Amino acid sequence: MNIHEYQAKELFQHYGVPVPAGHCAQDTSDFASALSSLPEGVTVVKSQIHAGGRGKGTFKDGFKGGVKLAKSKEEAAEFGRKMLGNTLVTHQTGPEGRKVGTVYFTEASEIEKEYYLAIVMDRATSRPVVIASTEGGVEIEKVAEETPEKITRVVIDPTLGLRAHQARQIAFGLGFRGDQVKQMIKLLNGLYRLFWEKDASLVEVNPLITTPSGDVVALDAKVGFDDNALFRHPDIVAYRDLNEEDPKEVEASKANLNYIALDGNIACMVNGAGLAMATMDIIQHYGGSPANFLDVGGGADAEQVTQAFQIILKDENVKGILVNIFGGIMKCDVIATGILEAAKAVHLDRPLVVRLEGTNVEQGKKLLDQSNLKIVSADTLADAAKKIVELVADR
Ligand code: ADP
Ligand code: MG
Repeated sequence: MNIHEYQAKELFQHYGVPVPAGHCAQDTSDFASALSSLPEGVTVVKSQIHAGGRGKGTFKDGFKGGVKLAKSKEEAAEFGRKMLGNTLVTHQTGPEGRKVGTVYFTEASEIEKEYYLAIVMDRATSRPVVIASTEGGVEIEKVAEETPEKITRVVIDPTLGLRAHQARQIAFGLGFRGDQVKQMIKLLNGLYRLFWEKDASLVEVNPLITTPSGDVVALDAKVGFDDNALFRHPDIVAYRDLNEEDPKEVEASKANLNYIALDGNIACMVNGAGLAMATMDIIQHYGGSPANFLDVGGGADAEQVTQAFQIILKDENVKGILVNIFGGIMKCDVIATGILEAAKAVHLDRPLVVRLEGTNVEQGKKLLDQSNLKIVSADTLADAAKKIVELVADR
């Protein structure tokens, strides 16, 4: 789960990480009060969406910049009015962009130099790693490609946490001296504690800045969390913004289904994440394109199967469905009953190919054959994929 910059900055403050003062607003009527406690003069207006590259982004109506420097509070409010409700397109949003539902007004900082700092879970070592670079404010992927020597990586042993010598190594690596080293160590410890205590998968500050008066400040903030650990962080779940998520994915998560929307036209319903991945691969292999990833889990019942059907059919791009179930814990006849119930309930109007294998497969196939629904049955995964790709190509 991702959160907004203003929410991430609340967490930063809680962990003693310095950020510029700021207030957010979801409605133009709240602009005045949000701006009132900020100092006079230059104010930064920031669109809150779950995507980066806002500064260089452009709104659908041609207005340029999802992060703007306003010379006065009047101008800040004017920028805010242009952003709120408008759709911002950045290199991370895709061409469809994201609608801005919250605007964040924040104090402008004087920037001496911009740095990059992040803590991520490194899958290769299964450990948190701190990534730091003197090249901040730009895309870190670009730095990694063009000047990899400018990136420092420090792997953290989770049983020991961030050690004092590691924090010093990072601070010195960025060229900090004197009091800035102390500030940086405090900041790093705060960010690491946040990362660890809240089960984050990513904490990113781009840019981290130094000011002419010698302060070290987090100017941007991005935090992502491990969904599997959210049950023990109700305070983080409260930050969830459903407007930022695909409505089909929101509905699926309520029904306890692992669903991810994709942009193809063959919907998949599979039990088990590995089998779901293999199913998507084989659809691609035969020239088709999956519309989603969907793992109904090992113990899905008829009701969940019906809900799954309803969700995948909400996608207007879907031209056909492939059901691929391996009956292990779940028996094939139970699944077949679920499919039949679901097909009736949702008035299935698109081709459906079903491949069943495993416990009670014969009873399951018989149930499908006996129904008067137009269900194409398949024996192997390859057979199923070929059939659905052909059926969809004809439509
Ligand atoms: P994004 O990464 O989505 O483009 P940022 O928050 O990093 O958004 O803002 C883009 C740029 O705007 C920053 O690199 C920085 O130069 C400038 N900026 C952002 N916030 C402030 C601020 N409070 N004061 C001064 N400049 C800022
Ligand atoms: Mg940024």
